[in-house]
Amino acid sequence: MIRHLLSAADLDHPQALRVLDTAAELLALADRPIKKLPTLRGRTVVNLFFEDSTRTRISFEAAAKRLSADVITFSAKGSSVSKGESLKDTALTLQALGADAVIVRHQSSGAPHRLATSGWVDGSVINAGDGTHEHPTQALLDAFTLRRHLAGGTGDLDGCRVTIVGDVLHSRVARSNALLLSTLGAEVTLVAPPTLLPVGVQTWPVATSYDLDGSLPKSDAVMMLRVQRERGAAGGFFPSPREYSRRYGIDARRMALLPEHAIVMHPGPMNRGVEITAEVADHPRSVIVEQVANGVAVRMAVLYLLLSGSEGGQDR
Ligand code: ASP
Repeated sequence: MIRHLLSAADLDHPQALRVLDTAAELLALADRPIKKLPTLRGRTVVNLFFEDSTRTRISFEAAAKRLSADVITFSAKGSSVSKGESLKDTALTLQALGADAVIVRHQSSGAPHRLATSGWVDGSVINAGDGTHEHPTQALLDAFTLRRHLAGGTGDLDGCRVTIVGDVLHSRVARSNALLLSTLGAEVTLVAPPTLLPVGVQTWPVATSYDLDGSLPKSDAVMMLRVQRERGAAGGFFPSPREYSRRYGIDARRMALLPEHAIVMHPGPMNRGVEITAEVADHPRSVIVEQVANGVAVRMAVLYLLLSGSEGGQDR
């Protein structure tokens, strides 16, 4: 296995399937009264969160604890980062605690890469979302959810048509999904206003469209993205939230354009009433809550595969 997980592109086809297969085995654990395995006993996992998070932080914490690791959760708010401490000094402090894995979320694209290549920490680095760049474990949990609903839980996603809609420009979820889902054989279409598609999207392994109504009937799954106001998405990229919802939001009328078997996804947190109506979010074909549950199993699989049996070395 790889040592660090910084990008969805770090996983080739067999490695991606290995993570998903391992997660499927680990998911069964969630139904047992005692949800713990001794696999990572004595290993230290540090959650290093410089940016707000609900699902990802809790999910990694639950995953590490279910594997019996010692978990230290660090959030920048309330720490010496708010006194100006640098990423390097924070990392060196964590290294002194003997972290075997550092799970990092940072507002700057590339921060996890810097940690992994700087020598500041010895352990595995897992990217839990860096700026507008990548969020590989979100893509893995999305692939896992798609596989359960559309591919019978095994094999790859050959020919599955996944439409990703909305604020692609600011979305690390979109980029990681585009990379991973295409590795697994899915056909990905990005639908967004022209202003919210990144420069260079032509080089991504995806199709693009501005026409949501035309794309939905050809989709096995639709993944709605949050309009990322904190990254400036509402400032001039579209005329008004109302206009955005009219063109790129999903409501009951649009949901009826999807094939009967299709599912609706969202990485959370949702802006209900902007990119998705409450009616669709809470619909039986919405798998948004299941995505969260699957996230724990997928993150257990990632921690297990990156850390188990590893005592250093590049290829572990
Ligand atoms: N929770 C996801 C992320 O951290 C998606 C989002 O924030 O919109 O990227």
